[in-house]
Amino acid sequence: MLSFDLTEDHRLLAQSVREWAGREVAPRIHDLDRAHRFDPAILPQMASLGLLGISIPVEYGGAGMDYIALGLASEELEYVDTSLRVIMSVHVGLNSLTLLAWGTEDQKQRYLVPQAQGRKIASYALTEPSAGSDVRGLQTVAIKKGDRYLLTGEKMWISLGDVADHFLVFAYSDLEKKKQRDTSGISAFIVERGFKGFSSGTLEEKWGILAGNTGFFKMEDVEIPQENLVGREGEGFKIAMFALDQGRYTVAAGATGLIRACRDASVTYAKTRKTFGVEIGEHQLVKEMIAQMESDYEASRLLWLRSGWLKNQGRRNTKETGLAKWFSTVASERAASDAVQIHGANGYSDEYPVGRFYRNCKAAVIYEGTREIHKIMQADYLLGYRTDRPTRCSLPAWEGKA
Ligand SMILES: Cc1cc2nc3c(=O)[nH]c(=O)nc-3n(C[C@H](O)[C@H](O)[C@H](O)COP(=O)(O)OP(=O)(O)OC[C@H]3O[C@@H](n4cnc5c(N)ncnc54)[C@H](O)[C@@H]3O)c2cc1C
Repeated sequence: MLSFDLTEDHRLLAQSVREWAGREVAPRIHDLDRAHRFDPAILPQMASLGLLGISIPVEYGGAGMDYIALGLASEELEYVDTSLRVIMSVHVGLNSLTLLAWGTEDQKQRYLVPQAQGRKIASYALTEPSAGSDVRGLQTVAIKKGDRYLLTGEKMWISLGDVADHFLVFAYSDLEKKKQRDTSGISAFIVERGFKGFSSGTLEEKWGILAGNTGFFKMEDVEIPQENLVGREGEGFKIAMFALDQGRYTVAAGATGLIRACRDASVTYAKTRKTFGVEIGEHQLVKEMIAQMESDYEASRLLWLRSGWLKNQGRRNTKETGLAKWFSTVASERAASDAVQIHGANGYSDEYPVGRFYRNCKAAVIYEGTREIHKIMQADYLLGYRTDRPTRCSLPAWEGKA
């Protein structure tokens, strides 16, 4: 039976995340953001709330909750700051849920369990300086040598790139297929920060999500044991797309939280600021912006909830999750722009949070499939064109796993 009510467990979870983020992070976020400082002390706090393994089964060290819980946590975290939700996206969505689906039992014990318990932090590394939407352009290679692979290459724009302990890394293991730009030559590997030949740094010139770490790393003949190959050789592209189905779900729910934050800040401001003798909320054009935020919030929320509902049942959701991500991130950009507008010049200063929302929302319109790539995917479904094209919105993940 269809129900729009959250369960008691879901309500309590959302409340506890809201209270924690409101108490522990909200009062400091302005300073962290201005200082461009990622605070690693946030990670153990999130771990103690069970967030770092929220939808990982208890047997693998997680909290054993479902996808709706993951979405709710993502929404509440991004209500306070995007950097918090990004942790959920890469650590839980892109990495841990992918290991749960594709990892061997040994990989789950060695990597998933400590990640779910929050003892180790994980991220996902697909992007390279010359390969973003066009995944076929990867330059990183994995050369097989006996029972090891030697990985060489550079990964760019990696969330928690200078922080995480474990990375899910994608590389061409078939050099002939690399020449032909054939994604069936890509494989997935677990790389540890501590492996010899690995070095990382932080991207300092970023202008949004400033309280979050975004980095790059280089691998020079990094020796990866055979046991760290995820899936089979050549399954890397499918695994990368499967991971994006999980990650972009958290992005969609997070963008929904950002719209809510814009709406709430705008309502508060519209009731305090007066022009022409009345609160600005009395002006119809201001009302229109607030009403648009409300409709964008509700529509975005329904979209990610539907996607989570499909995920809970193990049903395919690439199209639905892509739509949720596309719609909500574009709507969050509109909401943040209008929130700044409603605040007038005050919106253009760091004294109010809406400027931070505006800077933060843009990245989500770019990562985990750009707005344009998502549009292509939605149109291709309708037109019946190839949906297995090797961009960041491909379907083949569904060949193997839900
Ligand atoms: C803050 C931040 C965090 C990130 N974190 C991660 C991470 O943790 N891991 C990771 O792997 N990556 C991460 N990324 C990288 C992100 O996924 C890529 O930036 C994204 O996939 C786009 O790739 P690109 O930047 O190379 O743009 P490009 O692919 O070069 O695209 C440039 C422009 O061309 C458009 N375009 C490209 N191809 C087409 C087409 N076929 N049709 C129409 N338009 C097209 C795009 O939509 C875009 O507007 C992050 C990025 C940011 C900004």
